[in-house]
Amino acid sequence: MKRGPRAPVILTACADCGVGTLTLGEYYMVKDAVWVQAWAGRRKPWHELPGQQVLCIGCLEERLGRTLMACDFTDAPVNDPAQENISQRMRDRLTAKQVAIDGESIFDLLAARMIENLPPDQREALWLSWERYRDGPKLVE
Ligand SMILES: [Zn+2]
Repeated sequence: MKRGPRAPVILTACADCGVGTLTLGEYYMVKDAVWVQAWAGRRKPWHELPGQQVLCIGCLEERLGRTLMACDFTDAPVNDPAQENISQRMRDRLTAKQVAIDGESIFDLLAARMIENLPPDQREALWLSWERYRDGPKLVE
């Protein structure tokens, strides 16, 4: 029996928004722990088929509740920030040294949480010294 032509298999569509991740320039590999967290409680049987566990950067970040940073990615060649044809946000994440949550730096959020627990008369002084530290010269860049 002769078989008809097979339907094309789409291997790069984002599982959440459907965008073509290859076209978008967001073909990457993150470390297992990041991927496990992104897919926790969401895997359906069809996700085991090839190409069904693909996410664009935006949808992966949406699932994680934070932006990605350099250490989230493996050292696979597809993660080289110097390569051409990758999206600007992927290039940003591949080189980012910290994450953001709702547009805020994680360090600012943590500092704010600690400062909120101080007696009110100490908060402003500590916040100012935090900002001085944060915006000041760094020993390691
Ligand atoms: Zn998406």
